[in-house]
Amino acid sequence: RPGLLRPVSPTCRRSELRGDAGCDRRPRAGWSPPPPRAPVQTPPAQVISFLAAVLHKKGTREDIENNMPEFLLRRVKKEPTSSTIKKMFLIVAPLSVLYNWKDELDTWGYFRVTIVHGNKKDNELIRVRQRKCEIALTTYETLRLCLDELNSVEWSAVIVDEAHRIKNPKARVTEAMKALKCDIRIGLTGTILQNNMKELWCVMDWAVPGLLGSRIHFQKQFSDPVEHGQKHTATKRELATGRRAMRRLAARMSGCLLRRTKALISGQLPKKEDRMVYCSLTDFQKAVYQTVLETEDVTLILQSSKPCTCNSGRKRRNCCYKTNSHGEAVKALYFSYLAVLQKVANHVALLQAASTSRHQETLIKRICDQVFSRFPDFVQKSKDAAFETLSDPKYSGKMKVLQQLLNHFRKNKDKVLLFSFSTKLLDVLQQYCMASGLDYRRLDGSTKSEERLRIVKEFNSTQDVNICLVSTM
Ligand SMILES: [Zn+2]
Repeated sequence: RPGLLRPVSPTCRRSELRGDAGCDRRPRAGWSPPPPRAPVQTPPAQVISFLAAVLHKKGTREDIENNMPEFLLRRVKKEPTSSTIKKMFLIVAPLSVLYNWKDELDTWGYFRVTIVHGNKKDNELIRVRQRKCEIALTTYETLRLCLDELNSVEWSAVIVDEAHRIKNPKARVTEAMKALKCDIRIGLTGTILQNNMKELWCVMDWAVPGLLGSRIHFQKQFSDPVEHGQKHTATKRELATGRRAMRRLAARMSGCLLRRTKALISGQLPKKEDRMVYCSLTDFQKAVYQTVLETEDVTLILQSSKPCTCNSGRKRRNCCYKTNSHGEAVKALYFSYLAVLQKVANHVALLQAASTSRHQETLIKRICDQVFSRFPDFVQKSKDAAFETLSDPKYSGKMKVLQQLLNHFRKNKDKVLLFSFSTKLLDVLQQYCMASGLDYRRLDGSTKSEERLRIVKEFNSTQDVNICLVSTM
């Protein structure tokens, strides 16, 4: 979908999905690394500002000196360091953004940060217990595994990113989060919890225990009346009761809930243009598509709701044409063929990708044999040089459009993020980049979380790397 060629960095997409202030804190002019500027009000940036304030950071060299070990500190500063207990904060985030947090903290301030995760976590936990850091970063999983160790430390506050993960009262992650000893709890989320009142209760009950009462109390006082009032059969009375309950709920939460929408920072974001580009099929795709339509199976599908030839008065699919010549039920073929046609329309090479089920795979193999027997040229070419064949734009209308777009962006030295749902298609795009001599980076499910940040940084700061292939999965 060329409409997805939007100039947002992958590290930002997350916040975009939150539907909040998210993105492009550092709009890129050309390729050069941008000068530091005030953080836009993304939730992480707000949290970092808050931490800087409560840790009395000055944003100067003084912060760095204060972060030195104490034996060094005494030489730098004459007066002894304050004897009050240092404040320590815990940030819990999904692994996919853990290193992002570290990077953001390092970008916007001088904090002593420890990552409690992976095989070095035992050493890091010792550091935490000795209070040698100001901020400890960890994942939901590590928190669950090391709850006792983390509970042996006095935290000034805990900040939980993607807090909607605490929405299920029975989940182990929720139990662990509720068992964490800390009175000041801050949760960040972009999921509209109001849509599901039970989930809202669970997250709020973690953040401010008891604020909304017990689950049963909450159901009686708030969620039942609100839900009854929302039914289209609701009486006037139910409607009024529902609205009153909603107002009471909003009032109850008003001191504990802070909403941030994109509108607040719209002035700080670069203008965004969304364009949908319709791409017609290439001649090759049309021929393959037509061949699929002419198969016995599709003919059976297309005629399945016509009256049967035996004059029974029933539809063909319920009478003499229930199955194809392989004994497969025609009804079961609909979605398989929809998927096949979708693949052809995207890129014929996708037919060769591994399918989700074994049944689908045998089906696709059969179709390929049938279809490609008409295109021996393509088959021979993909055997000889799969590499160039598959990435040749003449095999896909979208690739043709993309090729022109990429040429245009290349001239402008624009940064391009190329998203695809299918990693197989990313393979094709990758082959295209290699064949065209374009330097690229790639992020998908198999990219290690430690690697992601390096890849994003290289993409952002290297002049010749202007394409990043990203899997939406
Ligand atoms: Zn019949």
